[in-house]
Amino acid sequence: MIYKADVLVVGSGGAGLRAAIAACERAYESRKRIKVLLASKGKIGSCGTTALAYSDRMAFHVTLPTTEPKGEDNWKYHAKDIYEIGGLVSDYDLAEILAKNSADAYFYLDSLGVPFVKENGVPVQFVTDGSIYARACFTGPDTAVQIEKALIRKLGEMKDIEVLEDVMISDLIVVNNKVCGAIGFKENQNIIILAKAIVLATGGAGSIYKSNVFPPRMTGDGYAMALRAGAQLVNMEFIQIGLSSPKTKLACSGSIMRCVPRFVNEKGEEFLLNYPITYNDVFEKGATWPISYEHKTCLIDIAVFREIARGGKVFWDFTQNPKGFEFEHLREDLKQRYYKEVKNQIGSRKTPYERLCEINPQTVEWFLKRGIDLRNQMLEIAPSIQHFQGGVKIRENANTAIEGLYACGECAGGQHGANRPGGNALLDTQVFGKIAGESSFEFALNTSIDEESIVCQANRLFESYKSYIAEDGIDLENAISELNRVMDLYASVVRHQDGLQKALMKIEELKTRKIKPVEYEYLLELKNMLLCAEAVVKSCILRDESRGPHLMFENYSDLWPKPRDERYNVYHVCRLNKETNQIEVFPMQSVKPKA
Ligand SMILES: Cc1cc2nc3c(=O)[nH]c(=O)nc-3n(C[C@H](O)[C@H](O)[C@H](O)COP(=O)(O)OP(=O)(O)OC[C@H]3O[C@@H](n4cnc5c(N)ncnc54)[C@H](O)[C@@H]3O)c2cc1C
Repeated sequence: MIYKADVLVVGSGGAGLRAAIAACERAYESRKRIKVLLASKGKIGSCGTTALAYSDRMAFHVTLPTTEPKGEDNWKYHAKDIYEIGGLVSDYDLAEILAKNSADAYFYLDSLGVPFVKENGVPVQFVTDGSIYARACFTGPDTAVQIEKALIRKLGEMKDIEVLEDVMISDLIVVNNKVCGAIGFKENQNIIILAKAIVLATGGAGSIYKSNVFPPRMTGDGYAMALRAGAQLVNMEFIQIGLSSPKTKLACSGSIMRCVPRFVNEKGEEFLLNYPITYNDVFEKGATWPISYEHKTCLIDIAVFREIARGGKVFWDFTQNPKGFEFEHLREDLKQRYYKEVKNQIGSRKTPYERLCEINPQTVEWFLKRGIDLRNQMLEIAPSIQHFQGGVKIRENANTAIEGLYACGECAGGQHGANRPGGNALLDTQVFGKIAGESSFEFALNTSIDEESIVCQANRLFESYKSYIAEDGIDLENAISELNRVMDLYASVVRHQDGLQKALMKIEELKTRKIKPVEYEYLLELKNMLLCAEAVVKSCILRDESRGPHLMFENYSDLWPKPRDERYNVYHVCRLNKETNQIEVFPMQSVKPKA
């Protein structure tokens, strides 16, 4: 089956929806007609992170006129946080674009009916990790879901967007460094899409790890397709990891830590007592949720990781206080922070459960609805992958190294550094989603494509997939679990050169193996995951220091990771060498602020 479009948007999360809508809105403004195809791996609104992710309070980071410190240029503080707290490894001009356009992105979503929490008509904002001022707006644990729903409502009004559901785009077609189409599968049938411009909005690659809070089938297809097409990836070693509930896939940040639960292993031991961690640190972990070398609280993640890596399990117990802890012992400034958050005065704050009921009753309810009663049940936790800060290297128009190819949202890279202000990922979907949509429309207006040569190239690509399969190949599930095992063990919380080399050897081995016959979609997902994993591991190996979530250890058993090293104030860029089928990683200076 052959489809034709001016613009193909791949992915129906916050970024893809915003891009498709923006392409049409820009066309209407220019009094032009345009055909946009929106291809989605699953049913729209039921696949991808935006549609399915929850945290105890999901943040949308934005600088509004009412945001402190007030003033016309208050977005500059936001840009500075992205760049400086981000570890000086993002493109400063992209950070400025994010910050400067954040208010417009908020007001657009507000106009679509996203129910942001407000007091007296003013959006409520709170401080998240990676920022100094209170900029995070929210609707509750479902901020992303609300954004997705609002954009889908808007999409319904746009006559020029055709949605292709249950389609996996597998490769891009590029002629003379210009994108001109894509191929993929719909219900296991080959499809070819002729498109003048393409926006990749395929989200992150959470599935390369077993311990992740991503929805299923987030296999980094956009990263891998971009590499094969000749584009570059950047900052792939910077992956947000934080304590989460694997059973419910809830990222357990802020308030859950501020109620100071008891950390126990499967033997009931309070293992944090073996580390130089105080209860003030546990409380503060709430504002430093993703692992960050720059915060001492990363020791909590390291402790939890080690318990699990030795084959154990870790739980939070809300029924009683950790050994020797009473709420009154907390540092005064932390208690004041707690009091500010109280929503539901229950009169007692003796146990972690009672404290959680006071500061975040919504989360208590959320777990109850999923059959977990925190009054009498422990919650299993693990450090889990939540967000890829890096991705397809973009510049200010969301453009990549390939003409006509744009990327946005979690699929794109360069706009975030090592640490990311909490809530800035959802913001990114809206700001760069809009830019990518508009840029793709402009590009499509002024270009043409040669249909015959695209179809020839498409058929060659379909033919090449056959070589990955053999009756005596390995089982797909086994290959995925082998990959997940080495990524969880060697490329997540505790990274060290020996382990990373072991992970790389396993990836190399799996890359050469043929797979027992399966549907092409699943086979190609594995191929994509292997390429993404190779990019992550090779980027980690090159960064022989600690920065943001990248904790590099001299030896596995060391208590503290290696220090940050100013020689690594560069980002790492990956490209695919097509001759060797190997990823090459090299350092590059990011765009700095103007003096
Ligand atoms: C548990 C959790 C909590 C989070 N909390 C926050 C938070 O509080 N604040 C914040 O800012 N960010 C948060 N994030 C991150 C943020 O939600 C994501 O970065 C963001 O939603 C990604 O949006 P996206 O549109 O880029 O990708 P997604 O929403 O993941 O959409 C990707 C789309 O691409 C489709 N797709 C993928 N591959 C293909 C293919 N080959 N062919 C066709 N379609 C394809 C998918 O099906 C999907 O429709 C959280 C993430 C998680 C997992």
